Amino acid sequence: METTNIKAFGTEAAEAPLDQLNISRRKPTPHDVEIDILFCGVCHSDLHTARSEWGPSMYPCVPGHEIVGKVVSVGNHVSKFKVGDVVGVGCMVDSCRECEYCKEGLEQYCEPGMTGTYNAPDNHLPGNPTFGGYAESIVVDENYVLRIPENLDLAATAPLLCAGITTYSPLHHWKVSPGQKVGIVGIGGLGHMGIKIAKAMGATVVAFTTSESKFAEAQRLGADEVVLSKDPEQMAKYQGKLHFILDAVSAEHDINTYLGLLRVDGSLVLVGAPEQPLPVGAFSLIPKRRSFAGSMIGGIAETQDMLDFCGEHNITADIEMIDIQNINDAYERLLKGDVKYRFVIDMASLKG
Ligand SMILES: [Zn+2]
Ligand SMILES: [Zn+2]
Repeated sequence: METTNIKAFGTEAAEAPLDQLNISRRKPTPHDVEIDILFCGVCHSDLHTARSEWGPSMYPCVPGHEIVGKVVSVGNHVSKFKVGDVVGVGCMVDSCRECEYCKEGLEQYCEPGMTGTYNAPDNHLPGNPTFGGYAESIVVDENYVLRIPENLDLAATAPLLCAGITTYSPLHHWKVSPGQKVGIVGIGGLGHMGIKIAKAMGATVVAFTTSESKFAEAQRLGADEVVLSKDPEQMAKYQGKLHFILDAVSAEHDINTYLGLLRVDGSLVLVGAPEQPLPVGAFSLIPKRRSFAGSMIGGIAETQDMLDFCGEHNITADIEMIDIQNINDAYERLLKGDVKYRFVIDMASLKG
């Protein structure tokens, strides 16, 4: 397989900071699209993977799965994209394409497993990991490339590729619609997208936060009502009132209190990932036939639907742009929750 050497930013070991390095990308095969990367969002997964916090990662590790860029070349069998198109790449760059889930457009739940955009075995370059978006360019099969709506700000669109689809998919799957009351728990990278998307779907949005200082922010993002989750009186008012809750909190929290806010047949869906198991009381679920579920990103077709929906409703992420050279500082700030609400890397800083 022919390769090209390109500049990237990543790490050689779990304890090492990220730094500039060179990586090899395959030259586009007949079904590939070669993308010059303009912007890449910074996801919590990037940090966890760079530091081997979810099990041993493959090194060198080049994170980044919220990629927006321009097509610079296409293989001769590519039919969906042409040079100059503005495109996106999210959390996966391939899947088996044959299992029942791939056939249903649920590639994120591919049975042998999807190929992650970074830190997955690269089928094209055996022995190497896939490298993500903290790089000058990326080569991806056209079937895993998304089209970016023309009206959206490109930098602020990058986070839609992970944070956007992670929140859109459950809201869409559980059929959130006008007339429903929907709770969003946690106002961070995921939660702020959840508020905007649930609002655009026509729901009455109730944001839950542990901090009174976030009330005005939540309203600015589109929340109709804001609740201080540590105030039992405020919480009691919502007992049995919500159709759906999207839980985007990664810290420990009492899930039973939130389950109690659901109506009959209501669902609470986790998209945040607390480290410790969450104890669920049987009687938090049984009396109102409630469901407790989880959800992971979305399939390719659904991700395109999400981008088109965001284009129609003019939804992007609230971002803070950084240069790639500041990524290590950005990780430290991310750990403190000190970002409104997503860092996006201006990839011109790597090329310059
Ligand atoms: Zn992510
Ligand atoms: Zn599959």
